[in-house]
Amino acid sequence: MTDAVTPTKHGFQADVSEVLALVVHSLYTHKEVFLRELISNASDAIDQRGFRALTEPSLAASGAPTIDLVPDRERGTLTIRDDGMGMDESELARNLGTIAHSGTKALLQSLSGDQRKDLNLIGQFGVGFYASFLVADRVEVVSRKAGGDGRAFRWESDGKSGFTVTPAERDAPGTDVILHLRESERDFLREWTLRELVRKYSDFVRHAIRLECTTEKDGAKTRALEQVNRGAALWTRPKSEVTDAQYEEFWKHVSHDWEPPLAWTHFKVEGSQELTGLLFLARRAMPDMPEIRGKGVRLFVRRVFIMDDCEDVLPPWLRFVRGVVDSDDLPLNVSREFLQRDRVSAQLRKHVTRKVLDLLEELAAEGRRDVPDAPAPKEGDDDDDSPKPVADRYAHFWRTSGRILAEGAHDGEHGERVQKLLRFQTSAGEELTSLPSYVSRMAESQPAIWYVPAESRAAALASPHAERLRKRGYEVLLAVEPVDEWVLQNLREFGGKKIVSAAVADLELPEDAKEKEEREKQAGELAPLLASMKESLAASVRDVRVSARLSDAPACLVHDAWEASPRLERMLRAHDRTYEGGKRVLEVNPAHPFVRRMNDLCGDDAQKDRVRDLATLLYDQALVAEGSPPSDPVRFARQVADLLVQSVPAAQGAPAK
Ligand code: ADP
Repeated sequence: MTDAVTPTKHGFQADVSEVLALVVHSLYTHKEVFLRELISNASDAIDQRGFRALTEPSLAASGAPTIDLVPDRERGTLTIRDDGMGMDESELARNLGTIAHSGTKALLQSLSGDQRKDLNLIGQFGVGFYASFLVADRVEVVSRKAGGDGRAFRWESDGKSGFTVTPAERDAPGTDVILHLRESERDFLREWTLRELVRKYSDFVRHAIRLECTTEKDGAKTRALEQVNRGAALWTRPKSEVTDAQYEEFWKHVSHDWEPPLAWTHFKVEGSQELTGLLFLARRAMPDMPEIRGKGVRLFVRRVFIMDDCEDVLPPWLRFVRGVVDSDDLPLNVSREFLQRDRVSAQLRKHVTRKVLDLLEELAAEGRRDVPDAPAPKEGDDDDDSPKPVADRYAHFWRTSGRILAEGAHDGEHGERVQKLLRFQTSAGEELTSLPSYVSRMAESQPAIWYVPAESRAAALASPHAERLRKRGYEVLLAVEPVDEWVLQNLREFGGKKIVSAAVADLELPEDAKEKEEREKQAGELAPLLASMKESLAASVRDVRVSARLSDAPACLVHDAWEASPRLERMLRAHDRTYEGGKRVLEVNPAHPFVRRMNDLCGDDAQKDRVRDLATLLYDQALVAEGSPPSDPVRFARQVADLLVQSVPAAQGAPAK
């Protein structure tokens, strides 16, 4: 250490050490990505400085900004140098010594051991800089902040015990990341290796990436900087000139994701507005938390970077989309407030939203693709863990991000398109169905699109509410995801057909005159039971009546169309313990032997208490069948135990108890 000043010693924030250990353990087969991560940081820092210079011209760099790679064989170091924004003393400590995103810690704690090994999740931490320690046993960062007081500082760490920050020298604002490569990683000092890596990972970075090359002539060595990337923003290039591999690398650059994307759309809008966009769908569900969702959509104006995670380019129900939008019409000094009220940006949002919906519709129309089997891994091929191609991209998308898209079903402007993109489980088979295809299968006699809300597919298929419908061969949607029910209940109608829960009180069943007459007759016969049950269950239900929807179950509970389903009620209660739902209607199955026998008991005054007990038991049974807890679990358990005893007669000669 040449500085006379005692270095300030800092410990890493606890979770940094943990993340560092994770990174090094998980990514050791992908070490080379450190370069992409550092170049990406350098490029962001240059963008930031350019953006700040729009309003503070004194911050501008002299000349076009560059990212320089300087290998030094004698010292065994690789330096990545940029003339970006730079960092001051406290920023060095904060940005490189803590994890920037507050959600990271929470996410980290929520991961199980196996998940922690997951490359993809680790990519989402934004651990970019820490990738340095994959190849270096010591890292120095010398930085001077643009527009600062002219002082520079050196951050230094071995990636284990913490870091120090000391005063340093730097001629101009910007940052040098100096990697002291491990003995085994000296290959990263070779010109050829560096050139290939830049071409592979960072060719489309908009700023010039230069490599310091040494040429020998007549025994004299000369060093010169040579640009090694093409340096045109990928989205500005014509589609025909961009390969899939380049799109995939660009995705990794903007998303920090280690897997290739599921799909992308690269578009140009011309006319009253000019804009270019390159937007991606991830393969894997990104955590739906703003802090760790990553960079979202980046907004550029005429190739100048404006902001990360621009929420105003897309509606919130498309927040799973990532990529870049570049507008020719917005002013360079746009702010979030401006975007929210400006007409041009409203138009921009409309265009971009349409393009994403176009992409989703294309994927949906594509159906199941014939995809080649992943090629057998070759000897020494370190990419053999690359993910297999996805056969049904839309189904895959739906599994990962469908819940979010569904939030757009009620959007005033784009709702209709979203509705057609919704997918539901159905009683008709394992495959998901869309509303249009359900409607196309509807029978003439079917008055509505029916759905059953339930916790799981099995529970929905076994639901008493849809028994009769299913017995008669009607298809019902299985609203298994909480969002399904919210969407369907609020949609009310699709393609001119009503959407109705099989659990609503006024369910209209396709019933002929004879069946109706039969049911009315049964209601007459069961009058004593209905009256007695109504009385004994008055505190719990608003009515007891004969059901037309049951076939096997003895009873079920139904609610009004505008009321929350029991499942929704359970969720509301979980948030608010004082929440009280409305009373529902208990329907009994007139053909069920238990119901008929109970009715017979009603005529006998001596059985009054027994009938009352059985009524509460039947009510609790209906609650359990729909997935709700019984109204009085202790009483319910006791009643069931009594029935168990009665159902097994005591063996002859057994001691009486
Ligand atoms: P991320 O880039 O995902 O935020 P990193 O760990 O790669 O995470 O970097 C942490 C922070 O350090 C960055 O957000 C940035 O503020 C700062 N930083 C990293 N590299 C540079 C650089 N070359 N110039 C300026 N700031 C940088």
